[in-house]
Amino acid sequence: MQDYEGRCHCGAIKFSFRAPNIVDGLRCNCSICTNKGALMSSFLIPQEDLLVEIKQDALATYKFASKVAEHHFCKICGVYPFHHTLRKKGHYRVNLGCVDGINTLELPVDVIDGASL
Ligand SMILES: [Zn+2]
Repeated sequence: MQDYEGRCHCGAIKFSFRAPNIVDGLRCNCSICTNKGALMSSFLIPQEDLLVEIKQDALATYKFASKVAEHHFCKICGVYPFHHTLRKKGHYRVNLGCVDGINTLELPVDVIDGASL
């Protein structure tokens, strides 16, 4: 396990979490993931392990369809830092492109078929 820190582009949303070493990423073919185009963490982070610091009330949330998944984004810079997953209540995936020290262009990528859920 390793400690990681991340932030949106403007830094109004900062987050940290403990997770297995990040050695791959995940993409999804559902409508919103296709729009976002971000590389997500392949692992889920329990809510209690994701520490979030928000300035200027910057965290906004977009929901659609079942409204279970919560797609968070920064009101100031527009970046998606993490989301509450549809797949497991109380768990999050993070945008690996926001995580310090991670080069998303060098990670192998898995794809999940979120469009069929
Ligand atoms: Zn921001």
